[in-house]
Amino acid sequence: MSTQGSPSSAPGNTITGADAPPGLGDSHAQLVRERLLRRMFVMGPPTVLTALAAAIAMAGVFFWMTRGLGALMWGFVICALLGLRLVFMRWNARLYPEPEFTLRQPDGAWRFMCPLGAYMSMWTLAPWALMPPGTESPMRILILLLGMFAVLMGSVPVIATWRAMVPVVTIPLTLGVVTRFAWMGGTDGWFTCVVGLLFGGSMARYALSQHQLIRRSLSDQIDKELLSEQLLRQSFELQRLNRERSRFFASASHDLRQPVHALALFSRSLERDLADHPLAPVAGRVVQATDAVSGLLNAMLDISKIDAGTVVPQPMEIAVDPLFLRLSQLFEPRAQQAGLSLRFHTGPEWLKTDADLLLRVLTNFVDNALKYTRRGGILVSARPRGDRLRLAVWDTGLGIAPEHLPHVFDEFYQVDNPQRDVARGLGIGLAIVKRLVDLLGGEVGVRSRQDHGSVFWVDLPRQPPAPAAPALAPTATPAPAAIDTTELPLVPPRVLLLDDEQPVGEAVRMWLAPYCERIEITTRLSDACAQVRATPEDFDAFIVDFRLADPQDGIQATAELRQLAGRRVPTILVTGDTDPERVRAAYASDLVVMFKPVQPEVLLRTLHQIIRSEEREPALSPRRRQPP
Ligand code: ADP
Repeated sequence: MSTQGSPSSAPGNTITGADAPPGLGDSHAQLVRERLLRRMFVMGPPTVLTALAAAIAMAGVFFWMTRGLGALMWGFVICALLGLRLVFMRWNARLYPEPEFTLRQPDGAWRFMCPLGAYMSMWTLAPWALMPPGTESPMRILILLLGMFAVLMGSVPVIATWRAMVPVVTIPLTLGVVTRFAWMGGTDGWFTCVVGLLFGGSMARYALSQHQLIRRSLSDQIDKELLSEQLLRQSFELQRLNRERSRFFASASHDLRQPVHALALFSRSLERDLADHPLAPVAGRVVQATDAVSGLLNAMLDISKIDAGTVVPQPMEIAVDPLFLRLSQLFEPRAQQAGLSLRFHTGPEWLKTDADLLLRVLTNFVDNALKYTRRGGILVSARPRGDRLRLAVWDTGLGIAPEHLPHVFDEFYQVDNPQRDVARGLGIGLAIVKRLVDLLGGEVGVRSRQDHGSVFWVDLPRQPPAPAAPALAPTATPAPAAIDTTELPLVPPRVLLLDDEQPVGEAVRMWLAPYCERIEITTRLSDACAQVRATPEDFDAFIVDFRLADPQDGIQATAELRQLAGRRVPTILVTGDTDPERVRAAYASDLVVMFKPVQPEVLLRTLHQIIRSEEREPALSPRRRQPP
């Protein structure tokens, strides 16, 4: 028995018959053969009943007309042979059950053909047995011919499935008619003999042409199956590669974040401590360079966060005016410095959207417009378009060549920065914009003419004016990340840091030490536990890395440390992971999450904030320390 299966089970069937190399072309032909064989085996049993009815009818009619024993005997034997065929078919069905045909393919046609051949031989004898020489009459001849031709015609759909079946069926039937009427002789005999021959021949040709059609359609069907299987495999492969790419980027970005995180803290400490030193400008440059790398990593993190679904829009009804006012506060000084005009144009328009996310989008557009405009100005407009409002930023800048235009919203795509100078942007701002606008349920677009300017827009659903609704309050330009002394805790805090990277620990210590009463650095959970166990009440906050050298992650480690401390010590979970799953997990913990590389000032401010908020809840605090 052959184990060659259908396309779904055959291992190497990824090439279509049309372009298959010789070896696989053979396997294609083999597949067609298997399908034909299967058809024959499946179509066989239902035809036995029809054949039985035809045999009984012929034997009955001729016995009734001739009362000859030949008809009776013939009827008996042909019924017995049909019974034998049925037995064989049942046997076949048991050996090769229909649902398993794809796995167990019959080893050849003989199981079907041998019983068929035996049965068909009875049709060669039929004219002799039913109408023995000397009993001829026009009526009997006519009935005999009609019966034989009907059987021949009726068999065509079945015999067309298997080429060898055509002669096995047509020859015995034709031979019976031809020999019987040649024996009869005379004009009638020879005439009938020729008619039988012509009819048998034409039926055989017809059956063979049908067989070719079936074969071709099966071949096409197999081609399509192989092609779709190939496409399916390719799409699985693509998905796998995508997953691998994401994993690679996640781990590369995680590994990169560690040193950059440490570098950011070291450089800021250096800048602070060298404030009055001649090397202060050098320290400033180091901080600038570190900030550029941090910016890149954080932009990648922004994308990961959006992809992870952790950025959830908070829609509210907002007026466009205050939004534009905020933009003007943000960018007016820069525009003036660059000698560009910055104008705003809107009617009393309202939107229902997330104000912060929309502001990020428009900020990006205006920032780019200022970056890529040398003279002229920038116009920010809001105009209704049907049930949508189009917020657009027009500039008279460099413009974008048509070949670049379709790609500007792609990740890391930059039009004119082949040397990838980070000072000239990262090519990621518009990719984030696109994702944010998708989140807001809007559409983003661009039109541009090189050397004439560009317009970037976002279309969002309009909201009928609702003056009662809370407007987006104009706020002052955000202050640079400075240390807000109102957020300082009453006394310098005592902090425990758990991070498996020694340099990161040193960097945190260097940066935080001047603001803390005590700072303990540990790289293993066991050391951290020992510290807390020794002085359970002596830590005001923990800073814990998400990924540790221990089997536990940062969330589990925090739980252990808090248990040892006997209270919910305020904790910052710091992570360098951008893998969406881990980003989600970090947010799902009730800890304050910060991403590496953290901005040193933000780390300090957050530390103070979480300690302050705990101090405001005396029930949670072990003791109120007095300022020294
Ligand atoms: P980048 O941080 O490099 O500006 P973006 O994703 O914001 O990255 O923009 C991608 C590219 O689109 C930029 O490299 C820039 O060439 C082009 N671009 C964006 N806005 C404008 C604009 N207003 N005028 C001309 N080119 C622009």
